[in-house]
Amino acid sequence: MAVVELLVGTTNPGKLAEIRAHLGTLPIHIVPLGKLASWPEVAEDGKSFEENALKKARTLADFTGMPTLADDSGLEVDALGGAPGIHSARYSGEDANDARNNERLLQELAGLPREKRTARFVCVLALCLPDSRQRGDWLFRGECGGWIAFAPRGDNGFGYDPLFFFPPFGKTFGEVDRETKGRVSHRGKALGKFAEALPTLLPLLHRP
Ligand code: IMP
Repeated sequence: MAVVELLVGTTNPGKLAEIRAHLGTLPIHIVPLGKLASWPEVAEDGKSFEENALKKARTLADFTGMPTLADDSGLEVDALGGAPGIHSARYSGEDANDARNNERLLQELAGLPREKRTARFVCVLALCLPDSRQRGDWLFRGECGGWIAFAPRGDNGFGYDPLFFFPPFGKTFGEVDRETKGRVSHRGKALGKFAEALPTLLPLLHRP
């Protein structure tokens, strides 16, 4: 089967590694965003993961003329009314990074017992075909429930992984390897749905 090129619209190395690991055996050649000479910045100003993922994928597909898969994801904490949610990447402000975001999350939950620390990761993948190729949009959503630990544990993964305790493993996502996380994670589930739809999608992804 001929391999098709798929632009993956992220520069987040953690996300990219997980997407590569999951789609590695499929007849797809992944082109990471960072391989392009330039690309338009996409403001993530939507009101949902779906809106943001679609906006990223649509803008990049039309800019490059390539089928594009974009991920918008984040952490929803019940005690915080679903925050940080779509604002997960910038939770600690302008100078946000993973360490600061985790620190802020621990501060916000200080004093809360385990049963009030429930949370879920959400990932929405949007696949967009450019106008030149019979325009079309598809969405794939995955969720993964757990709770927020009292202190970071483990150096694996990225983002909130060291604080995300997954009860079936008895560990945080920071303490498991990429493959183990990918079998149960929000992104793994969304990628699984994408892979399931691939037989139908492949003919559309080929160049006309
Ligand atoms: P965005 O999708 O680029 O807007 O940002 C997603 C943010 O959510 C990341 O920067 C992380 O902070 C967080 N996030 C999303 N997925 C994961 C994950 O699998 N592990 C840990 N943090 C995640």
